[in-house]
Amino acid sequence: ASRNPGQPEYLQAVSEVMESLWPFIGKNPKYAEQGLLDRLVEPERLIQFRVSWIDDKGEVQVNRGYRIQHSSAIGPYKGGLRFHPSVNASILKFLAFEQTFKNALTTLPMGGGKGGSDFDPKGRSPGEVMRFCQAFVTELFRHIGGDTDVPAGDIGVGGREVGFMNGMMKKLTNRADCVFTGKGLSYGGSLIRPEATGYGTVYFAQEMLQRAGRNFEGLRVSVSGSGNVAQYAVEKAMALGAKVVTVSDSSGTVVDEDGFTPAKLAELMEVKNHLYGRASEYAERTKARFHGGAKPWSVKVDVALPCATQNELDEEDARTLVKNGVLCVAEGANMPSTLAAVEVFEQAGVLYAPGKASNAGGVATSGLEMSQNAMRLSWPREEVDARLLDIMRGIHKACVRHGQREDGSISYVDGANIAGFVKVADAMLAQGVI
Ligand code: NDP
Repeated sequence: ASRNPGQPEYLQAVSEVMESLWPFIGKNPKYAEQGLLDRLVEPERLIQFRVSWIDDKGEVQVNRGYRIQHSSAIGPYKGGLRFHPSVNASILKFLAFEQTFKNALTTLPMGGGKGGSDFDPKGRSPGEVMRFCQAFVTELFRHIGGDTDVPAGDIGVGGREVGFMNGMMKKLTNRADCVFTGKGLSYGGSLIRPEATGYGTVYFAQEMLQRAGRNFEGLRVSVSGSGNVAQYAVEKAMALGAKVVTVSDSSGTVVDEDGFTPAKLAELMEVKNHLYGRASEYAERTKARFHGGAKPWSVKVDVALPCATQNELDEEDARTLVKNGVLCVAEGANMPSTLAAVEVFEQAGVLYAPGKASNAGGVATSGLEMSQNAMRLSWPREEVDARLLDIMRGIHKACVRHGQREDGSISYVDGANIAGFVKVADAMLAQGVI
């Protein structure tokens, strides 16, 4: 804590991992050698820079840009960029740390990184967003590259923003190699990448349910958020026969007891992806109930899929979900549950998957985008989807292998932390003290 003052999110993410690792390292002392843990909790490089740009009124705006290059032990740094006013070094360090383990779990050769800015895209014109993205890349470009560091999207960064950044990157470097993933299909993107995090989260939850003799058919599901991850989690859960009863955003929660339909999802996508509107506007259009300022967790469901942001589900929310009989919680977002909430789920025997396992489908498919770009070809939708499903099943298996408790139940937290750690740690030990 003394090395990372004022960084509660980073300390939270590290504490969760360390709690899983202590007993494992006790039994496998080689992982206590070479200062391995001390090195693992120190990002390899932290870059912070000024982003100045001119808004539509002709006024100069100054934002702060970051890239955290956490670990390159198993491959080039890889992880998204987040544009949100809450962005700071603590949040990005936690995300880059988590990303390192997540990327290892995918089995693809990707290190961990994360970046972004405190720029708030809400209410900004398309021209302003483009100029901001371009200004951001005029500094970021010198730190990233196809074999160095390959960013992607995250909160506030979707296909539009990746396009603007990729365009500026090409202009500055005169190279067309794959430096961003989440690109549009017309300039090197992969089919299924937009869907991958949401689909992957539901695939992972389906594996958990099936291991417990259940499946999504007929279950009630709550989703938080209404952005990229949430939208495709809704789509896949519906496709597997579930009734999705909530989505949300930072202004409140939509509760729809009739359940989502493909037509309602298309409406949500129109409001969120084209009009950059609010969840309340979607509720008005579909005549669903909207609870201003509320979170989705008091709605009675069998499966909860938090897909918005960190620490959006606290101890009290977890107790409410458990009281209402929740079976399974799979995180589409990164660290949406507080440490105390996770404790509640684990003690109540809820099937609980931490984001680093259940939301790894997004970065896995980014890895597949890198492969396709390197081969200069693109795989059909079915092939990418089949590979995604296969990777999610592999991650589930790895969690079961490393997370088995004495009573035969699974701690997906321990499983994900240990399985990810072993791969990164072995690579670090093999490459010496650097
Ligand atoms: P989007 O920007 O597309 O959507 C984010 C959603 O979460 C919006 O509905 C947003 O509401 C809501 N949200 C954001 N911040 C807050 C907040 N402070 N309080 C309440 N709601 C909030 O982002 P993504 O869907 O891409 O990302 C969602 C989560 O998934 C993040 O945790 C991200 O790190 C994680 N993730 C994303 C991956 C990807 O491939 N995109 C991969 C793996 C994880 P509003 O519009 O009101 O801000």
